[in-house]
Amino acid sequence: MADDFPTTKNKFTANIVTPDGTVYDEKDISLAVLDTPVGEFGIMANHIPAVVALKISQMRIHRGDHEDLYTVNGGFAEFSGNVLTVVADSAENSRDIDVSRAQAAEERAKTRASNAKTSDERARAQVALARAINRINTSKIR
Ligand code: ATP
Repeated sequence: MADDFPTTKNKFTANIVTPDGTVYDEKDISLAVLDTPVGEFGIMANHIPAVVALKISQMRIHRGDHEDLYTVNGGFAEFSGNVLTVVADSAENSRDIDVSRAQAAEERAKTRASNAKTSDERARAQVALARAINRINTSKIR
């Protein structure tokens, strides 16, 4: 019967890795929700192996009674063997976001986007703007 299994059977491990190092490494995760270009992707223990691209977005991780909330600024996620590994250009716990810095980055990105002389410059500014807006929006949820 399902009730006979220890609860750890229904949990998995999650890591978030950035060029700065590992910013998250926890066991006993019951659910992680990621945002991909084709929609939200929920992971629970024993999910089949998967690799997905990630949007500049939020990641919600349910651990016991807690919900850990992180920004993930691009990258991808891989799930196999009950380990979720997120590799992102950068990622921040919602509680660690410096809102003033993100607001300054938003203003700079808007200026760069409107002064852009090439489509590449405009695209880069829009990505920076998306990162800043994601941080600002995520900080409001914490
Ligand atoms: P900025 O122009 O403010 O540096 P950015 O979007 O160019 O913003 P990134 O290159 O994505 O910054 O990140 C560089 C490092 O700074 C990463 O470690 C990232 O987690 C951190 N970081 C960037 N913005 C913030 C913020 N508003 N609050 C906390 N950490 C931040």
